[in-house]
Amino acid sequence: MTTPTLGSNTGAALGSGYLQVAVDLPLDSTFDYLPPFGQGAAAIAPGTRVLVPFGRGERVGLALGASPGSGQDQSRLKRVTAVLDPAPLLAAADLALIRWAADYYRHPLGEALFAAMPARLRRPEPLLEPRLRGWRLTQIGRDQAAEVLARAPRQAAVLARLQVPGAGRGLTPGLTTADLTRALGECGAALRALVARGWVEPCLLDPAVATGVVPVLGPELHPEQAQAVAEVRSAMAAGGFRAFLLDGVTGSGKTEVYLRLIQAALAAGRQTLVLVPEIGLTPQLERRMGTRLGVPMAVLHSGLGERERELAWRAAASGAAALVLGTRSAVFTPLPRLGLVVVDEEHDGSFKQQEGLRYSARDLAVRRAQVTGCPVVLGSATPALETLYNAERGRYAWLHLTERAGGACPPRLDLLDIRGQPLEGGLSRVLVRDLGAEIAAGNQVLLFLNRRGFAPVLTCHDCGWVGGCPHCDARLTLHLHHRRLACHHCGWTQPIPRACPDCAKDDLRAMGQGTERLEEDVARLFPGVPAARIDRDSTRGGGLRRLLEGARRGDYPILIGTQMLAKGHHLPGVTLVALIDLDQGLFGADYRAPERMAQLIVQVAGRAGRAERPGRVVLQTRHPDHPLLTALLRGGYGAFARGALAERRAAVLPPFAFQALLRAEGRGPEAATELLSRAAGLARGIGAQGVSLWGPVPAPMERRAGRYRAQLLTQAAGRGVLQRFLAEWIVGLRGLKVPAGARWSLDVDPQEML
Ligand code: ADP
Ligand code: ZN
Ligand code: ZN
Repeated sequence: MTTPTLGSNTGAALGSGYLQVAVDLPLDSTFDYLPPFGQGAAAIAPGTRVLVPFGRGERVGLALGASPGSGQDQSRLKRVTAVLDPAPLLAAADLALIRWAADYYRHPLGEALFAAMPARLRRPEPLLEPRLRGWRLTQIGRDQAAEVLARAPRQAAVLARLQVPGAGRGLTPGLTTADLTRALGECGAALRALVARGWVEPCLLDPAVATGVVPVLGPELHPEQAQAVAEVRSAMAAGGFRAFLLDGVTGSGKTEVYLRLIQAALAAGRQTLVLVPEIGLTPQLERRMGTRLGVPMAVLHSGLGERERELAWRAAASGAAALVLGTRSAVFTPLPRLGLVVVDEEHDGSFKQQEGLRYSARDLAVRRAQVTGCPVVLGSATPALETLYNAERGRYAWLHLTERAGGACPPRLDLLDIRGQPLEGGLSRVLVRDLGAEIAAGNQVLLFLNRRGFAPVLTCHDCGWVGGCPHCDARLTLHLHHRRLACHHCGWTQPIPRACPDCAKDDLRAMGQGTERLEEDVARLFPGVPAARIDRDSTRGGGLRRLLEGARRGDYPILIGTQMLAKGHHLPGVTLVALIDLDQGLFGADYRAPERMAQLIVQVAGRAGRAERPGRVVLQTRHPDHPLLTALLRGGYGAFARGALAERRAAVLPPFAFQALLRAEGRGPEAATELLSRAAGLARGIGAQGVSLWGPVPAPMERRAGRYRAQLLTQAAGRGVLQRFLAEWIVGLRGLKVPAGARWSLDVDPQEML
């Protein structure tokens, strides 16, 4: 029962003849092996992969150093079959971080270690040659004009792509097939044709993207930006850990601040880790960082192929990449010269891993900076309440950017009370009039509705039948375009019935409004005005880039989008943003619902009036007196957050308390509850003072994908108290008899109560 501290358990006694190995299995323990014949255990450095006999087969394991002696019967120890890597893949600091995460999130160490590495390395595969196969232009290809290929548009696109200055990787200009496919869609045939013409040839590329361009100078910093840069730089120069909250309204130039800091780190010969929420944001940022910094950069996200991922990871680990730009899991990337950590949009929910090792990449980024002894910058226009609280009590230095860069005015927020108002296509008359005026003036408008599909409910007007998912406690969404009813929770789809399945009458009606329907309504209200709908359905198969580019060019006076559009995309032509159905988010079951809602409103609002044109944001609501809305309108996100934090303090909820959620699911409703009752019994047996138990209770959506779910919440006033309890509880949980077909998972610092 100790509070997890970094590097606990690392005290491997040198000179012992046994090697401690972690295997990729949900087991809490590590195992001792004899080193291969002729080698001492100490010769196999921690962080090296080994192949070991395990059970009846063999498994990949990670050497953790000479064993301190685990009490296993040493006479029966087996021998390491093979050492797989010539040098360790993870350095001591990387191992220490992952150990810390495994301890803190109560996850088996072996699984945590392998989850932190590229998937290919979880198998006994040898490391890849650190070069990527790619394509580049031949001398003749360089001189061709893409117009020559007017009758072969795919080839023209590939040629043009390869001709973009700075589109290269590594020292040689050139791109991988995956790079090209990401940008252009499937292009294998076009590549073969271009090779046959002698215009393109295969080549080997460095895995780190070097843009090969001369770094472009940035704008002169505004005083607030300069102040922020100076403070972090002085922390960098002083050495050691320091956490900063860069609290800057959208468009205030946070990215510009990151860029200056990265340049400072580069100048000091240090690497930077930049974490971003989603890949949809990365291409823009990648280009911007590339053109500004002109250094080799490794980009890590889930869209990469296994080989690409491994090579980018190793470019970081070898120090070849000066900068790692990545999503959540990039927090584990080995970086031997790490000198700066940046988390952009730190409030974003996607930093939390929701399965397996359920870590918060934001929190681990802070921990990582602490271990490394370097500054970490958390940036957001709408910081998480946890982060604000840390800034408030001085644990994080609080940097403010209060004004938009480039002279743009902040958007004005207006509540539009729609009680008793006639709505057309979900829009009030006032709003339709205002939208029309903006469009007529040549401006762009954005309609935000966080619900995809045509309508959320299909019902029988005659008998009241409602289309429900056969596998979940959820309704089926009507997707007219695909002619299906679909469940957004488990993926189930079925044809749309012609008549009511219950009473056979032919009077089925779509209730409510999704983006598909809104698109139809808008086409009727504004005939002839081009509109683009941007949601997960309309961008499946990679249409997002094209739609966004069109949107930025101004091809579409009307933009319709879900939260996909709320994040980071610069839409300089938008002067009016309307959130047309706010109320669905105001009364969520989760205590974090208001925080998410406020962040969403402010982020969506941030799309408006980016350039010199002032923007306006209209919030349609039937609850104009809602305290969250009024606080937000009067005092902005800061005022909202102060109120929300006061509520959390009064209700003793995070960040004023610490939680871990034990979830269980089973084939029937009893199994999950039964499992959790046993777990609760165990917890009471521990008798941990200051830890409260809530539940077991059925999950808010009890049945999902055919499984019945329940949960048990544990909470304590201090992190240490909760961690000491969890350390003991998890041992009991791992030994718990689990009803057939049931399983459990533990979520430390849960973000969702679903
Ligand atoms: P944020 O990351 O806070 O949303 P950005 O860094 O993307 O803000 O800046 C918003 C816009 O303002 C960008 O177009 C950027 O080039 C511009 N910008 C940022 N800083 C300055 C500055 N000091 N002077 C002029 N323009 C700036
Ligand atoms: Zn009916
Ligand atoms: Zn379902």
